[in-house]
Amino acid sequence: MILVTGGSGMVGKDLKKFMPNALYPSSNELDLLSENSIKNFFTKNEITGVIHLAAYVGSLHDNIENRVQYFDQNIIMNTLITKISFEFGVKKFIGVLSTCIFPDKGMKYPMSELQIHNGAPHIDLYSYAYAKRSHAVQLDAYKYQYGVDYSYLIPTNMYGYSNHDDRLHFINDLVLKIVKARKNKLSSIELFGDGSPMRQFMFSEDFARFIMEYYNSGITESINVGDPENRSVLEMAEIALKVSNSKLSIVFNDSKPNGQHRKDVDMSKMTKNFPSFKFTPFEIGIEKLFKFYEKKL
Ligand code: NAP
Repeated sequence: MILVTGGSGMVGKDLKKFMPNALYPSSNELDLLSENSIKNFFTKNEITGVIHLAAYVGSLHDNIENRVQYFDQNIIMNTLITKISFEFGVKKFIGVLSTCIFPDKGMKYPMSELQIHNGAPHIDLYSYAYAKRSHAVQLDAYKYQYGVDYSYLIPTNMYGYSNHDDRLHFINDLVLKIVKARKNKLSSIELFGDGSPMRQFMFSEDFARFIMEYYNSGITESINVGDPENRSVLEMAEIALKVSNSKLSIVFNDSKPNGQHRKDVDMSKMTKNFPSFKFTPFEIGIEKLFKFYEKKL
């Protein structure tokens, strides 16, 4: 059986549509912070492959406020699930990192997979980034020392059908703000920073579909994944307003941090290995997200 951790999360719920026969235990059935819980789960279930999505993940603001949780929880979960998977004979393991872990400055863009360790990540993301970078080191160590198929995908920022009402990533937060502002008949929305940071974003459903294709492909190389398009925060906000046919104005609160200025990554390995994979156009994904939040509120 294939075990998917983090099945109740944004990507996990999407992956269930593409890989319905895998196991998706809740964090009550499988607590990844507990060695006993993981060992009991592996004793009761014959696991041959693992797709590890579970993580402590959230907005830039939350990363700044909860540095301890971002470090401790991610490093403990990743370390235990990888080590115990190996001990129970799991031959295939896919970890999920993030382009947030790439160096903050002094890089040649777009950044290749080889550049992960070539400089410090953005200081506000140290806890999350170093925990995820360590997972890359751990997975490579198992792969090279024991010859197992342990690899990782490095997805760009994502948006999609999230359960979170707080700790939201930029696009979800943006769309939710627009929906709420329209409902409350406000004239503007406030966004943090000055609108200049550049980001690559992918619809979470696309990433889920990609994980399924990657799992079944037999490719063992660790790669960046996402829509290569790199847009500024202002540009994305303008697209969202246009898609929602909204006349709201944008007020930037530049007393709040911008975060990393850019972190665009090179997708050439992905396109070489998966030449026919298509991403949902940004405008279409945003439209789907509007429908999701309009229904939810
Ligand atoms: P999410 O919606 O926040 O879901 C996180 C999942 O982790 C939930 O299912 C949660 O279960 C589970 N989890 C947390 N602590 C756990 C524990 N102690 N034991 C077992 N499960 C636990 O995350 P996501 O957005 O789907 O992200 C999926 C992966 O993609 C993560 O590895 C994340 O770092 C990575 N990623 C995300 C983004 C993004 O923009 N969202 C971008 C790049 C990379 P409960 O709900 O039961 O707590």
